[in-house]
Amino acid sequence: MKNPHQALPVTTGTNAEHARQHNRRVILEVVRQGGRLTRADLTRLTSLTAQTVSNIVTELQEEGMLLSHAAQKGGRGQPPVPLSINPDGGYSVGFHVEQHRIIGVLLDLSGKALARVTLAVSYPTFEQAKPLLLDSIRDFRQLRPAGRFLGVGIALPGPFNVEGITAVGPTALSGWDDPNIATQLRDHSSLPVLIENDATAAAMGERLHGLASELHDFVHVFIGTGLGAGMYLGNRLYPGHWHNAGEIGHMTLIAGGKACHCGNLGCLERYLSIAALLEHLGRPADESPALWDMSDPDLQQGVDAWLEEAVPALRQAINILESMLDPQTILIGGFLPEAVLARLIAGLEPLSRSISSRSDRRYPRVQMGAAGQDTVALGAAALMILAEISPDYGALLKP
Ligand SMILES: [Zn+2]
Repeated sequence: MKNPHQALPVTTGTNAEHARQHNRRVILEVVRQGGRLTRADLTRLTSLTAQTVSNIVTELQEEGMLLSHAAQKGGRGQPPVPLSINPDGGYSVGFHVEQHRIIGVLLDLSGKALARVTLAVSYPTFEQAKPLLLDSIRDFRQLRPAGRFLGVGIALPGPFNVEGITAVGPTALSGWDDPNIATQLRDHSSLPVLIENDATAAAMGERLHGLASELHDFVHVFIGTGLGAGMYLGNRLYPGHWHNAGEIGHMTLIAGGKACHCGNLGCLERYLSIAALLEHLGRPADESPALWDMSDPDLQQGVDAWLEEAVPALRQAINILESMLDPQTILIGGFLPEAVLARLIAGLEPLSRSISSRSDRRYPRVQMGAAGQDTVALGAAALMILAEISPDYGALLKP
C-alpha cells in the first residue's frame, strides 16, 4: 500500500506558533514521564523560563490536560503544587486492521484502555472497513460524549508501497493503497488520523502496556498472518524513511528456499508466519489459530513439523537483528496460539553466538511479548496520543 502519511494534513503556522506548540508538547511529555511534577521541576527539567512554564501550565490546566493536586506543605513562601496528566484530558482511538479481524480500543490520555471492540472481517478492503471503523469511532465517542478526542491511529500490515511485495500474496490487503484513506477517515470523523504499520505499532504497545516499559532499545518481532518487526531504538520508535523499517518478512534467509509471492526464494515469512503455519498444516488460509484445540495429537504433530523449519529461520533472524541493532532484548509476539509461541521461543536455545552473548545482561536475549492480542491496537492509539503530546512524535502528524 502507498505511504498514507502523505495524505495527512499539513500544519503550518508562524515560527512563534511552532515554538509554543513544541513547548506545550515538551511540558506534557515531561509530566507524562515524570508522574507528578511541580512548576519548579518543570522549569529545571525543560530549561524553559519560569514564566513560559507558568503560562503553558495555566493554559493546559484550563484545557483540562493537566491536573493540579494538593500543595506540598513545608518550607517558606508559596507551597509548590504538583501537576499530573489528567486521564480525562483527552482520548484516542486505535485500530488494528488485519486479514481476519479489526480490533479497536479507546485510550485515555494516561494511556489506559477504557473499551475495546473486535469485528470479524475477511480480507477487508478499505471501502468495506470504512463504515465499520466510522461506526466504532462513533460508539467510542458516545462513551465519553463530552470528551476531547485527539484522533485515530490505524495500524495496517506492511510493507507500504513496495513494488512487487505490497499487493501480492496471502498477507496482502487490497484497496488500502489509496493515498487519500487518512483524509477520507478524517473528513468523516472530524478527527486527525495517523496510519502506521502493524509491527511498529506493536512495539509501541509493548513499550506502554507490556514488558518493555523500562527498555530503551528493543525489537518486537510480530508474527501475524505475515511477519514484521517493530524497532524501538534510542528510546524512540524507528519507523524508517517510508515507514517500512523492520519489515523482515521478505529477507531472503534460506538460500534456494521456498518460492515467495514477491518473486524471491527463501523469504523468512514463508517459514515464520501464521500463513506459513497454515500452509504447512494444509489448512485454509483464513483459519484462525486462536480457535485451535492444542490437545489434538494430529495438530501437535503438524505444529512440531512446522517448528523444525520455523525455529532455525527465527534463530537466524535473531542473529541478524542482534548483530545490526545491539538491542537490550528481542520480544516475540503476535497471533500464534500462546502454546505454539512458547515452544517456538523455547526451541531457539541454544541461540547463535552474537554480540548479544554477554554475561552482564539484565534481560534475556529473547522473550515472549506480554501486551496480548490488543498490542497493535493499543500501540496505534498510543501513537496518536504521543503525536499530540510528545515533541519526538509530533512530526507523525505532519507529512
Ligand atoms: Zn518474499
